[in-house]
Amino acid sequence: MSLQRTDDEWINLIYTLLTSVKIPDDMEIDPDLTQNPNFKKLRGFLEDLRELSYALSKGDLHMFAYSKGFILSNLKALQANLRHLTWQTKQVAEGDFSQRVEFLGEFSDSFNEMAAKLEESTKALLQIAGADFLTQLPNRRSAMRFLEQTHALFKRHSRSYSIAMFDIDHFKSVNDTYGHEAGDKVLQNVSSSMKLLFRETDMFARFGGEEFIAILPETSMSGAVILAEKIRVMLESAPIDLDDGTTLYKTTSIGVAESSVNDFDASKVINRSDEALYKAKTGGRNRICTSPPVNVARILKGCANDDTEQQPDTPALKLIDL
Ligand code: GH3
Ligand code: MG
Ligand code: MG
Repeated sequence: MSLQRTDDEWINLIYTLLTSVKIPDDMEIDPDLTQNPNFKKLRGFLEDLRELSYALSKGDLHMFAYSKGFILSNLKALQANLRHLTWQTKQVAEGDFSQRVEFLGEFSDSFNEMAAKLEESTKALLQIAGADFLTQLPNRRSAMRFLEQTHALFKRHSRSYSIAMFDIDHFKSVNDTYGHEAGDKVLQNVSSSMKLLFRETDMFARFGGEEFIAILPETSMSGAVILAEKIRVMLESAPIDLDDGTTLYKTTSIGVAESSVNDFDASKVINRSDEALYKAKTGGRNRICTSPPVNVARILKGCANDDTEQQPDTPALKLIDL
């Protein structure tokens, strides 16, 4: 049987397929027509259009539509954007407030404002709690408070302590080559690997920029040098994977100092560790210096001694004495 349709009937048929919630059972379709490849294409397109728009309206972002064309491409783009937005929202929930949406008009503005405000308030809360936003380590203020207490214990009960000051080598070149965001990731990566090597009773904090401080209670210069060397070696051999697929290796220079009876306050110990760090930098980087000088090579060979005799540099161990 061949169903002849007038132009109006054709228009009504397509209109019904596009607009009705359910395709009427009695919609007669010429059996010849169902075999027609162009009709099949049109019908497939209309079905995909109905199903994809329905899935989107219900928040189902995983339906796959085979048909192509302008209208479906737009719906597919919306589907992909919403999927990406879902992932971005999860990232924000996990604390990555750098997420920004660019593709959803007014919604983007609201999302971006929300992420920026969350970042601001989290930073303020962390600051109050004495933590650094980027690395989640204690911040400089926490480190200084801890240092004052440790120094007070030293003066009252002669519990000596040491300080190790770390400065990542040539860090600026990471920002210059890979961008500031990659630089941030490197700082997070480096600090979380370093953190693992400290005791619970130690204070390891971000001192500022790419500088970190370790305050080591009840630890002699020898103990601090041994720990510093472990960190130096760990860092130089730890691969850091960037998002663009690059693998980097970073090194750190380290200045170590121990409390001494002549130290009226903690700033004296910090100043010596700073001086030692400066020497480590000018001495070639990726090395440890101490102030006052001790024979660090011998310490690392397991023969700790505290003499202050100036020893020759030991490039193999990347250690120098101040
Ligand atoms: P050196 O070996 O002498 O220490 O060289 P350097 O490049 O590490 O030292 P410099 O002081 O010249 O540069 C430090 C760089 O660290 C510059 C600064 O932009 C970067 N930096 C500091 N804080 C951050 C941060 O939070 N994120 C990023 N991405 N970079 C930071
Ligand atoms: Mg620095
Ligand atoms: Mg540096």
